[in-house]
Amino acid sequence: MENHTTRPHHVAVVGSGPAGFYAAASLLDAGAAGGPDVRVDMFDRLATPWGLVRAGVAPDHPKIKSVSSQYDKTAAREGFRFFGLVTLGAGPTDVTREELLERYDAIVYAVGSQTERRLGIPGEDLPGSVASVDFVGWYNGHPDFVHLEPPLDSERAVVIGAGNVALDVARMLLLPEADLRATDTADHAVEALAASSVREALVCGRRGPIEASFTTTELRELADIDDLTVVVDPEQVPAGIADDPALSKGTRRNLEILRRFAEQGPDAAARHRMAFRFLRSPVEIRGDGRVEEIVLGINRLETGEDGRVRAVDTGERETVATGLVLRAVGYRGVELPGLPFDEASGTVPNTEGRVTDRDGDHGREYVVGWIKRGPTGIIGTNKKDANETVRHVVADLAAREPREHSPDEVEAWLRERCPDLVDQEGWAAIDAHERGRGEPSGRPRVKVVDRDELVKLSRP
Ligand SMILES: Cc1cc2nc3c(=O)[nH]c(=O)nc-3n(C[C@H](O)[C@H](O)[C@H](O)COP(=O)(O)OP(=O)(O)OC[C@H]3O[C@@H](n4cnc5c(N)ncnc54)[C@H](O)[C@@H]3O)c2cc1C
Repeated sequence: MENHTTRPHHVAVVGSGPAGFYAAASLLDAGAAGGPDVRVDMFDRLATPWGLVRAGVAPDHPKIKSVSSQYDKTAAREGFRFFGLVTLGAGPTDVTREELLERYDAIVYAVGSQTERRLGIPGEDLPGSVASVDFVGWYNGHPDFVHLEPPLDSERAVVIGAGNVALDVARMLLLPEADLRATDTADHAVEALAASSVREALVCGRRGPIEASFTTTELRELADIDDLTVVVDPEQVPAGIADDPALSKGTRRNLEILRRFAEQGPDAAARHRMAFRFLRSPVEIRGDGRVEEIVLGINRLETGEDGRVRAVDTGERETVATGLVLRAVGYRGVELPGLPFDEASGTVPNTEGRVTDRDGDHGREYVVGWIKRGPTGIIGTNKKDANETVRHVVADLAAREPREHSPDEVEAWLRERCPDLVDQEGWAAIDAHERGRGEPSGRPRVKVVDRDELVKLSRP
């Protein structure tokens, strides 16, 4: 059925990370492209928008964080509203999926992956064994992790994982203090890291250097960090390893960089060391009341019938003394009340972004970003991904009459349910305050991490 009404459709976007913002921009474009006129209300459980761009991306990567200026442009468009401190859930002050379905023509979930994948080994929950989700949130000023207090009193930290998050957390532990102080790292973390005793981060990958999922830029930049020596075992990254034409260009470049580090050898004069140890899986974390050592299993590689290279335990063990284990083996989605959820992948089952029930049917609910496809890809990946979903949202909206909707009534309902709600103007006030505080010391911003202070700043 063609939609001949002049009334706009209203879409709720839950989550204000990259995926939510790309979806919002694409929805707001629909009318100009000959589709239905769409208005967007965006919700986030935090007072501040931008998801992992604010609370995940490493603070010493300000250029990457500056993608937020694109999201500001979307937020300034007509037909867009932001409502922070509104959680979709089942708690007394949460808004429920059913309430949103009553009030909106469609819901797009862009809630990301809010928790960690577990190692499933003894000692994983000892104090001093910290999920990268928490550690990253702590140094980025995510209000949920402000009180983490990771123990930074031992010389060595062990990082489990061979991806960019593992590199981020290892690098943040070892950045020179002056570099750290130039970033928007939360103040509590700046002070703790500046006083840290950690001199070495041992980055452990289950498989070999060929299978590691670091990106080239993140590996290459390690060479430019002051007072940091990168230690790679020449036996694990032998001469000629990068010459195999069957490897992808990116992998070959990574191997060349690792090989260069191996050839250079450690610089004993450097204050900090980042050491790579491949073919190692955590087997047990031990300690009396806190982490004191980690037992690593030594692996060999085997290629399965499906062509996948697997790590196989040789039974040999290596014990490493440490007071801090950072687990960086992946993020994981969290089930939303009432929505289907696939436990294995930690995502909401969907067909090109249309949420599907057990019978494969779909209604007025959609997903974008990490909750749609799992925690992979870079920020830009979420744009293509959101466009795919929005194509379906727009097609489905065009086939339906928009429901009765009063934006003012919806806002009044929200304000009653969530009295602390932070709207776009409130966020703009917080943003201006944070940037202003950063200016005298040349920092991009000084983050406010206390929920009550954020609410206070957001009030006129
Ligand atoms: C540590 C780390 C570093 C990274 N660094 C880079 C990098 O340097 N470069 C790069 O390109 N990519 C990087 N990425 C990847 C990038 O951050 C992701 O691709 C992207 O953030 C995923 O977007 P998203 O919108 O799906 O999820 P998110 O960014 O996680 O956004 C989800 C939003 O939903 C909100 N939310 C969750 N649950 C609810 C709820 N129930 N109700 C309301 N709101 C809710 C959250 O508060 C959050 O704001 C990094 C990722 C991590 C984890």
